[in-house]
Amino acid sequence: MSNDTLEVLPYGRQWIDDDDVAAVAEAVRHPWLTQGPAVTAFEDKLCEVTGARYAVACNSGTSALHMAAAAFHADGQDVSITSAVTFLASANCIAYLGGEVAFTDVDPSTALMAVDSLQQVVDRVQAQGKQVRAIIPVDMCGQPVDLPAIRAIADACGAAVIADAAHSLGGRYQVDGQWHPVGGTNLADAVTLSFHPIKHVTTGEGGAVLTNRERVRDIAQAVRCHGMHRDSARLTRPADSPWVGPWYYEQDSLGYNYRIPDLLCALGLSQMGKLEQFVARRRAIAARYDALFAERLPGVVEPLHQYPDRENAYHLYVVRVAQRDGDSLDDVAARRKSLYGWLREHKIFAQVNYVPVPWQPYWMQRAGTKPEDFPGAMAYYAGCLSLPMYPLLTDADIVRVVETIAQWAS
Ligand SMILES: *Cc1c(COP(=O)(O)O)cnc(C)c1O
Repeated sequence: MSNDTLEVLPYGRQWIDDDDVAAVAEAVRHPWLTQGPAVTAFEDKLCEVTGARYAVACNSGTSALHMAAAAFHADGQDVSITSAVTFLASANCIAYLGGEVAFTDVDPSTALMAVDSLQQVVDRVQAQGKQVRAIIPVDMCGQPVDLPAIRAIADACGAAVIADAAHSLGGRYQVDGQWHPVGGTNLADAVTLSFHPIKHVTTGEGGAVLTNRERVRDIAQAVRCHGMHRDSARLTRPADSPWVGPWYYEQDSLGYNYRIPDLLCALGLSQMGKLEQFVARRRAIAARYDALFAERLPGVVEPLHQYPDRENAYHLYVVRVAQRDGDSLDDVAARRKSLYGWLREHKIFAQVNYVPVPWQPYWMQRAGTKPEDFPGAMAYYAGCLSLPMYPLLTDADIVRVVETIAQWAS
């Protein structure tokens, strides 16, 4: 088959069915296109699936991080800590508030926040006489982080935990033998989600803050909508004043417009009905890849390490180009670039997730970060490649990806 006739395989894509289209078509005829009942229904569904007490839906995962960070006052002189390997938004949300950001290194075999590195960063911040305000771990690729260990460190230094779960909706993890769904736990003070089309369920653009704490919900709601409210218990002027009436509202904090339209929540609600099926298919695809790579390409590409007490939701399926004896990281990076190019020639559009944040020019300048302080992140970045992973990927597609890599390797 010539390359021209090959179907393109992206690294991720959404799955929209007729019932999703019908849900949006119905919602667009409602009297409310935004701030209507679909928003609340979507939020209720998120709570039901994750076990969180409250959900505040908003217009992106980035807004959700900003809303959560605002709830813990991650601003001023205080330092918030996120992982070196994540999407830019996990760090930007702190910078929006004027807060300082520090980064932990990652375990290169999982790309997850390294707990020993977190402890070192906390010690360093405290040695500078500063307060750690928030810790923002990331469930990279869909595998939950070690939340109990991170919670313990956060408690010891008085920090909040904002879990960036943009990759892990539908995942689960064990604590003391009990399984917990991602998103509904007291181990994190807030959990954020994204509904970008590349994520598990989509609203086009969208996000949410999940929390069990009423105060966090209230602040997230205020930040979502200009800091305004009509809550009679909190209004500062008497209801019987001629200047006050049913129209009256007050602003008591600074907020933004981070609202998500009803139309999009109708899509999200429809998609959420399929989350379990989506995640089950992702896990089956990962198992197939794992088996084929172990059989066909040992020592060439290596899947990420999986912990038995964490159920990966597989937002991404990442392999690492193996580091052979005598290889420098430059050699690994060159081989990964070669594999990326080879796959692209064969219409397989892999991706690299992510360029380490402390290696970004902006953060090197703003936070004074140096790549040599993040050896795990740079080692991961040198060899990582996100292969096609989405529920519509067929078994034949999986074989095609593996065989194309096998041709490259030979
Ligand atoms: C996608 C993503 C975000 C941001 O979500 P948007 O909806 O694109 O704003 C934040 N963190 C991580 C880890 C992500 O993957």
